[in-house]
Amino acid sequence: FLFFYFFTIFIISLLFIMIKPDGVQRGLCGVIIKRFERKGYKLIGLKMLNPTEEILKEHYKDLADKPFFKKLVNYISQGPVIAMVWEGVDIVKQGRRIIGETNPLDSAVGTIRGDFGLEVGRNIIHGSDSVASANREINLWFKADELIQWKNHSTEWIYE
Ligand code: UDP
Ligand code: MG
Repeated sequence: FLFFYFFTIFIISLLFIMIKPDGVQRGLCGVIIKRFERKGYKLIGLKMLNPTEEILKEHYKDLADKPFFKKLVNYISQGPVIAMVWEGVDIVKQGRRIIGETNPLDSAVGTIRGDFGLEVGRNIIHGSDSVASANREINLWFKADELIQWKNHSTEWIYE
């Protein structure tokens, strides 16, 4: 059991994060980036863009039959957004905890959505919900040469 625990918890993985147009417009980019930085995660990709409807429909394709799908695509396609890739131990699960619940009203104070949002249709940030969807989303939004491998000088002070 301990062996299994070790290899599931201490796996370094990647998380795709997008600051949605409301987060950008409201000047929240700095505080959002800081929350991932200060936790100890490493930023390995970042860009600002105006996303096309095409990329958003692909990104959210699992929600295509939801009643809010069209509104969702319209909301994010107003742009600009900031797309990022972050790296760290167990980052997908922990990153979702930093972000909060889908609805800001259900999100604990101290989470990004709990601190900065009021409505599900203006919930500031996207984060992948599994390692598989993180990999799919990173491939969708980034080219391989846009991901930067670098050594953080704090690594041995973040990881034992
Ligand atoms: N959304 C919405 N109404 C809903 C549920 C979701 O407008 O009832 C939007 C919201 O912006 C959410 C996005 O659709 O962030 C994607 O939904 P998902 O269930 O994947 O939530 P998330 O993973 O972003 O928490
Ligand atoms: Mg989701």
